[in-house]
Amino acid sequence: MNLAERKLIDLQSCVEFMQRHNHLIRVKSEVDPDLELAGIARKFEGGKAVLFENVKGRDYPVLVGLYWNRDFLAKFFQTTSARLPFALADDIRAWRRNPVEPIIAKQGPANEVIENDLDLSTLPIPRHAEGDGGPYLTSSVVIAKDPDTGVRNLSIHRMMVTGKNRFTMLLEELGHVMDYFKRAEARGQALELTVNNGVDYALSMAAASPASAAPIEMDEIGIACQMHGAPVRLIEAQTVDVEAIADAQFVIEGKILPNVREPEGPYAEVTGYYAGVEARWVFEVSAITRRRAPIFHSILSGKEVYNAYGLIAGAGAFDKVHSLVPEVTAVHFSDGSVPYHLVVQIDKKHEGSQRNAIMAAFVSLAFVKTVTVVDTDVDPYSVTDVEWAVQTRCRFDRDILHIPDAIGHRLNPMVENDKWERLGIDATVPLPREDKYKRATMRNVNLDDFDIEGA
Ligand code: MN
Repeated sequence: MNLAERKLIDLQSCVEFMQRHNHLIRVKSEVDPDLELAGIARKFEGGKAVLFENVKGRDYPVLVGLYWNRDFLAKFFQTTSARLPFALADDIRAWRRNPVEPIIAKQGPANEVIENDLDLSTLPIPRHAEGDGGPYLTSSVVIAKDPDTGVRNLSIHRMMVTGKNRFTMLLEELGHVMDYFKRAEARGQALELTVNNGVDYALSMAAASPASAAPIEMDEIGIACQMHGAPVRLIEAQTVDVEAIADAQFVIEGKILPNVREPEGPYAEVTGYYAGVEARWVFEVSAITRRRAPIFHSILSGKEVYNAYGLIAGAGAFDKVHSLVPEVTAVHFSDGSVPYHLVVQIDKKHEGSQRNAIMAAFVSLAFVKTVTVVDTDVDPYSVTDVEWAVQTRCRFDRDILHIPDAIGHRLNPMVENDKWERLGIDATVPLPREDKYKRATMRNVNLDDFDIEGA
């Protein structure tokens, strides 16, 4: 995949790029990072990105919305919205075949300034939702190293600031960082990390790639190298033996403490519900470095997480489902489904392949709750079109597959004892296709052939 421009490897150039393409809103008023900033950002969710130039009591601007518009993400990667998951899947495959190593230097933009005072409250870290337990780092890319092999890992975690040099964080049960930490803790050791705030799309996508797409013995940073078409630049950290991203805005260095847990939460999650307070992992800060003029990056729980995770997970899902059922032509996590609803488009050659596609999706994706299969004359990216297919092509007495007591996703409030049910919806037209299912079409005209005013 090609970035629109090779130099789009830091937030400053992304901001310029968005400005040039009329995709940036600038908030000039002073805005409180406590609830007000996110409240304003929410009003623009899904449209242009928002740059808060004047954050109350802080010295740096905040960018929100870098990922929340899928069409703009596609523009950035010089492809179309519909092609984006396939392009990402191509990059992951290319990376697995031939991983490109990053370059490591001592100095880079992200350590132009080394802070003397370790005080997270000087950073413009917003508190997003009413009821959230504190300010949260939401988009920062964490780098860790396997305590046995030294292989690097990229990941994204929610992190709640609990003190000047301390935050609590969530480690996903199946994530590689959890695996690293368990092994470190068993030896009574801490796990060192760098927390890199304000990185480009490629690094965020690489960090969001699920463990199923990026095995534990491989360093996800290679995915970003692949997307950049060049090695990513890393810098050595000041206080830990883990590298940081040279073009990041801020780097927070430190370690997850062994045998220590402190309360984290509540936090308004991507599900639209609050994750409750629980004793979770504790990170102690040992250094903060930054650019001379950094832009703090934050993402809102919602469309942005959906785009960052949903896109890369969709890319991986297409790879797997297509390999099992080659008639599958596209997959998409339905907008608003968090992503629990996978829409599968199929060029059905044999009656019954669509049922195999449903089973393939369930086996390939541990947390998908609903799978809907549609024909190639239905746009899988359009909720409206999928709805049309379900209401005009699915016979509810025969075309619904129901799987009780499947493993559920813990963030979802419906899960009980780690279980929920799964639903397959076959919204494809039965073969042989009767004429009554032929979709109405209008003539495909070229607007350039007509003199049109006001369009
Ligand atoms: Mn990994």
